[in-house]
Amino acid sequence: MLEIKNLHVKLEEEDKRILKGVDLSVEAGSVHAIMGPNGSGKSTLSYVLSGRDGYEVSEGSATLEGADLLGMEPEERAAAGLFLAFQYPVEIPGVGNMTFLRTAVNAQRKARGQDELSASDFLKQVRERAKELKIDAEMLKRSVNVGFSGGEKKRNEILQMAVLEPKMCILDETDSGLDVDAMKLVADGVNALRDAGRAFLVITHYQRLLDHIKPDVVHIMADGRIVKSGGPELALEVEHNGYGDILAEVE
Ligand code: ADP
Ligand code: MG
Ligand code: MG
Repeated sequence: MLEIKNLHVKLEEEDKRILKGVDLSVEAGSVHAIMGPNGSGKSTLSYVLSGRDGYEVSEGSATLEGADLLGMEPEERAAAGLFLAFQYPVEIPGVGNMTFLRTAVNAQRKARGQDELSASDFLKQVRERAKELKIDAEMLKRSVNVGFSGGEKKRNEILQMAVLEPKMCILDETDSGLDVDAMKLVADGVNALRDAGRAFLVITHYQRLLDHIKPDVVHIMADGRIVKSGGPELALEVEHNGYGDILAEVE
């Protein structure tokens, strides 16, 4: 699904190298987790994959189902099936959640050469998704994320994901700042969307999220590289011992 090879990324504005040769292969149907100390480049990786400005790829490649991601515009990446759930979802005053979702869905359908969904078909689809994810329909009537609690914002990200039906979902610290119940709801949402044709990259600081979203593979990122990969037990090791042992071993 996602194949990253020797990815080197620096800041556009200054000569600062952030990613220094990332290799990562995520198979369809799987969930991969990335953990790692602050500042190791986890968010940068998700930004570069989604096409955010300000970063320069100096070497390497990233493909989605074989297509060159890095050569696409951000909206083309979304149309190709990439979705990034943000660490800090933005508030958009004056734009209703439903309008936002419908615009996103129809832009994606257009890019895929499909007809727009009618208002009633769209409404039906969103209500179904919201129900499956136990999201209060009241949330759909409000402006995007305005006045939402941390938990509601994250669940709204999951709702967007459910409605857009992406193939490759990247969640960047979607659990940060959430209490245990809200985290469980996010995890339940992800689990409900797990599918043989879909893959997840879950970036997290906390192993407890991985108690609820069982990853197939756990990667440790440090100083712009993936320095170790293993099974779920690797996350437990980090939880118990911190990153010190792993980093020392790698050195
Ligand atoms: P993580 O998500 O693992 O905490 P980040 O990808 O946010 O790490 O950051 C990696 C490093 O790159 C950090 O040292 C961070 O300060 C730096 N960095 C990332 N983006 C920028 C930017 N736009 N301007 C300056 N420094 C940046
Ligand atoms: Mg950070
Ligand atoms: Mg980050």
